[in-house]
Amino acid sequence: MESMIESLSMGDRTSQQLVRYEAMFKLLGEIQPLEDIEAIAGIVAREWKYFANVVCWHLVIPLDRSYLVIDASRGEAQTLDLPDLHAWDHDLFLSRIPQTFKREQYIARSGVPEHFLNPSITELYVLPIMRLDRCIGVITAGARKEPFDDMDERFIKVFGTWFTDRLYDILMRKKHLDDLLRRATNDALTNLLNRGTIIERLEILLELSGRTGHPVTVILADIDHFKRINDTWGHLAGDRVLREISARLKQHTRLADHIGRFGGEEFLMVLHPCDEQQVLIAAERFRRCISDTPFVVDPDDGTSVTITISLGSATARGNVRPELMLKEADDALYTAKRNGRNQAVSAPVVLRAIKKG
Ligand code: GH3
Ligand code: MG
Ligand code: MG
Repeated sequence: MESMIESLSMGDRTSQQLVRYEAMFKLLGEIQPLEDIEAIAGIVAREWKYFANVVCWHLVIPLDRSYLVIDASRGEAQTLDLPDLHAWDHDLFLSRIPQTFKREQYIARSGVPEHFLNPSITELYVLPIMRLDRCIGVITAGARKEPFDDMDERFIKVFGTWFTDRLYDILMRKKHLDDLLRRATNDALTNLLNRGTIIERLEILLELSGRTGHPVTVILADIDHFKRINDTWGHLAGDRVLREISARLKQHTRLADHIGRFGGEEFLMVLHPCDEQQVLIAAERFRRCISDTPFVVDPDDGTSVTITISLGSATARGNVRPELMLKEADDALYTAKRNGRNQAVSAPVVLRAIKKG
């Protein structure tokens, strides 16, 4: 009789485990094809409780300069990007080993996520996820009413590791893709758009102008006597000046406009919509942001020099060929140089597309 009861309870236990495995496999299957962190976190927030008594959880993944923090409770997940960690998370990151905290051990600690303070939570299980010797995330699971049993902890370990790994991989893939894209479209020294990309933007806006008739303007800016900076202060100082000039021009470029490094010490701004009158104000803004504040060329003794730029602009209405506009702007820039530099000159006529047929 006794052995029958035992085998019955064993049977119950086994079927209970099967139900939990089923729940975990179902959850894994649901999130496996997803790439969206918030969508995955939302599903895990709803379903983790079905196989390990995890009613709320807290996950921290370190990023380059911040932390991804996900808090899940009451079946919902909230995702945040935080610049710093609270004391509680900070300590957990340093510990690097799985730990269990009874309610009385964590209740008074500073920075404990609020949902763990709920009276129904009896215990926390903290699992740091390591890759070689790097901690790629710390997941904390909260138990409701009953503390976690051995089986719960094993489920938390298996699923928590898989889940954190998955989110970490998605984040890394996105970061590497962003990096690649930035390298392909931006200039390495100045981080402005590179020549190919800025011309592509110009083409897109000219095509748009062909449909809307809104004017597009380009400004070519060239640093005056830049060779002298290199010759006097060295190439590194020249590079520093180039970066600073780029940053100032970028700061004075409107969000809807574009700026790129056109060549060595030449910049191309594409303004849309901007006509032949409005460009006078914009060009003057660009010219003065360079000439009004001297540039430090020797950081050791703080020596600074005044630097100027010359600018040539051209305006088009309609789907004009980009080369034509750039030629007009270059001619205007040449005139600005010849007339004494540190000035802006506009092309004499507004370019218009010749209608076909
Ligand atoms: P101008 O007023 O007629 O434009 O005179 P300039 O000296 O600015 O023009 P020039 O074409 O004679 O010289 C351009 C200089 O820009 C020479 C080149 O070495 C320098 N330059 C181009 N690209 C870079 C760069 O990436 N870094 C540094 N440091 N210098 C560069
Ligand atoms: Mg030049
Ligand atoms: Mg120059």
